[in-house]
This record gives sequence, C-alpha cells and structure tokens, in this order.
Amino acid sequence: MAETQRPGYDDTPLIPGSTFKVHDNQRPWPRIVTPPSASTQEKAGTPPSDAVILFDGASLSGWQHRDGKPCGWKLEKGYMEVTPQTGDIFSRDQFGDCQLHVEWAAPTEIVSESQGRGNSGVFLMGRYEIQVLDCYNNATYADGTTAAIYGQYPPLVNACRKPGDWQTYDIVWQGPRFDDNRLIRPAVLTVIHNGVLVHHAQPLIGPTTHRTVIPYVPQPTVGPLQLQDHGNPVRFRNIWYRRLTTYDQV
Ligand code: MG
Repeated sequence: MAETQRPGYDDTPLIPGSTFKVHDNQRPWPRIVTPPSASTQEKAGTPPSDAVILFDGASLSGWQHRDGKPCGWKLEKGYMEVTPQTGDIFSRDQFGDCQLHVEWAAPTEIVSESQGRGNSGVFLMGRYEIQVLDCYNNATYADGTTAAIYGQYPPLVNACRKPGDWQTYDIVWQGPRFDDNRLIRPAVLTVIHNGVLVHHAQPLIGPTTHRTVIPYVPQPTVGPLQLQDHGNPVRFRNIWYRRLTTYDQV
C-alpha cells in the first residue's frame, strides 16, 4: 500500500514516551509471522516462521557437550533421549533474550522417586535451570518440582502430564544485565507448562545451584541453551526460540 494510502492519523497527540502519535499513520506495521502449528502426542508441531530451530528431531548437529565433543545422546525418530552418564549438552547457537519452546517426556518406566525420577533440566544461557522432573504422583521439595526455577521458586501449580506423555515449556527469558560488572537488571522468567502459567515475570535471585544460594556473576548477554543429563532417559523434541524484539522494531 502506498504511504499516502496508509490508514491512520497525523493530527493526533503524541503518545507519552513515544515518537509516534495516537493511531499514527507512519508507525511501522508489525512484521508478519506465520504462527506455529500445535503439537500432538504423536507428532511435533511446526515452529513459527521466524523461529531459530535448535532441534527439529532429525539431527543432533546443533548440540555438543561441555568439552566440545559431539552430542552423545540418542537420536530417535523425531526426538532425542538422554544417554545417562554422557553429560549435559549445549546448543552450539548462543542467544539471549527470547521466547523459547521446548517439549520433553519423562520415562515411562518408573525407577526411582523424588529428584531421581525423570530428572533433567532446561538451563537458560547455561546457568539458570527450569527443572524437568516427573512430578506426576511424585513427591519432592517444592522448589525442585517440575517447572520450578530450581532452588528459588516452585511453579505456581503442578501441571504435569503422566510419564511418557509429551509436555511443553513456553518460556519468556530476559537475561541479567551488568554494567561494569555490577548487576543492573536481574534475569526475569515467565514460564507456561502445558499451557498453564507457572511463573510470571519472576526476577531470579542468581544462577542455579544446589543446597545453597549464590549471587550473579557477570556474563555476556548471550549463552547456549543447556539440557541436563541427570541420569534419567528423558526425551526432548521441537526446540526453538524467537529473539525478543521491541515495539516498532521491524
Ligand atoms: Mg534437573
């Protein structure tokens, strides 16, 4: 559409804090994105058109271990599975603030209890864990429950599906910011588990640790996504993210 035909107004007041007027006919239109298709238990959905795909079920080439060795987890038809004792894996891609989608399934064979049952984890920027655990009829400490910000905040509710069922995490991540090695903004997490809100714009205390609390350590604004080998054959599929943009960023 030609600019002269752009709908809107040019005689309206400025929006406070903005360079645009109310209903400004010159304000950039939102970019067009083809939305994702929903996953089913049988099949992963398709990511949105502007997503960066970290794992599409066909290759482990985007992942490596901490020492840079190729990912030793098992690649099956459409998903990957933790091979216990091979170690955590890290995306080769490094990224920061994002909308992240991860699907996972706990093992159907129940072998342990509490933190030993279907344990894995999704670590943003290699440091901040959203717990993966089978908490379907499994008692554990609250801040270690499925979808907990481990060691800091339990999920608002337990929205677990049963072992073997595919589950989703939809995450909005804003990493911490440092100025001259001083924290000026903590990391902030929003998490939706199986379509249910479990953390809402929650500031984090610091990086994830076990049985203690530690402060932030200055770090770059990007890092890898890390998936945990906690000794259980947890499965993952359909992992993608979208960079967070700001208004009028086209
Ligand atoms: Mg874990």
